[in-house]
Amino acid sequence: MTIATPERYAHMLEAARSGGYAYPAINVTSTQTLNAALQGFAQAESDGIIQVSVGGAAYLSGQAVGNRVTGSLALAAFAREVAKRYPHITVALHTDHCAVQYLDEWVRPLLAYEADQIAHGQEPAFQSHMWDGSTVPLEQNLDIAEELLDKSQAAHTILEIEIGAVGGEEDGHRASANAKLYSTPDDAIRVARRLGLGEQGRYIAAFTFGNVHGAYKPGFVKLRPDILGDIQRETLAAVSEGRIEGAAAAELSNTDKPFMLVFHGGSGSSAEDIALAVRNGVVKMNIDTDTQYAFTRAVAGHMFANYDKVLKIDGEVGEKKQYDPRSWGKQGESAMAQRVVEACQELGSAGHALD
Ligand SMILES: [Zn+2]
Repeated sequence: MTIATPERYAHMLEAARSGGYAYPAINVTSTQTLNAALQGFAQAESDGIIQVSVGGAAYLSGQAVGNRVTGSLALAAFAREVAKRYPHITVALHTDHCAVQYLDEWVRPLLAYEADQIAHGQEPAFQSHMWDGSTVPLEQNLDIAEELLDKSQAAHTILEIEIGAVGGEEDGHRASANAKLYSTPDDAIRVARRLGLGEQGRYIAAFTFGNVHGAYKPGFVKLRPDILGDIQRETLAAVSEGRIEGAAAAELSNTDKPFMLVFHGGSGSSAEDIALAVRNGVVKMNIDTDTQYAFTRAVAGHMFANYDKVLKIDGEVGEKKQYDPRSWGKQGESAMAQRVVEACQELGSAGHALD
């Protein structure tokens, strides 16, 4: 098993929810960082999630092309081929944060493409897509989520939604200072009323609990993963009291966590905050900044230590084997893979590969 089938992905997420662990979702922007992520998951004997951002998708198509669908499908095709060489782990492919202005040029065409793949008896290119409604009012967020959840069912993919706003900056999008950084149980119940709890199609949800995208110094932000526990408890209570019409109470009989949750802005978070978030139902944690840094730190080390070999200076010709992109690329990949291993250990997915 290599790239997850839709059934396998659903099984992975259930295994994480019931097993009390989560998968790292590693952002990649090249075949090199994709290979690094696979290397890390294999080393950790962990299944995992590999994702491309809106900027990463455009970059993957070639900077002179800048087409997000092309970049995404190219990455998925490459991943499907190389992942065959890692028979003991399963990896799901995901598209990360798609804000409202990118839906028509990115996630909607991908969902249409995948629905067509399903109609032709193939597997979808990706296993899940994220709709980032954090910049629009909650009702509009849920209107669009409803539409995309329908389309996700036709594509046999899982939808990821974001409720509330995440601070910091990602791909040039900066949340405003008065953005809603903490979701409430009422928000969660509104979500369950509109989207159900799995019976209208499977989705995973990023409720905000003070998350910030990017690296930050300790103390800059107050993460409150306990909020996720309140959300699970109060939503479950609302289901059992019949306050969420149509919610599949039967499906929830074997869990105290009605929502499968996503942790955004995982880089730089403390082990305690991560552990509590996972206990409260987080099954996926996004990691981008820390793996970017791990890759670049190793490359910078090589360049500074070998500056007179990677450059032609003082009339010399440098040293081919030091400036061959593979020589520093392998170091970047191995350092990033090591950071992926740490993420698997922190989230508890290490050693849990289903195969
Ligand atoms: Zn987010």
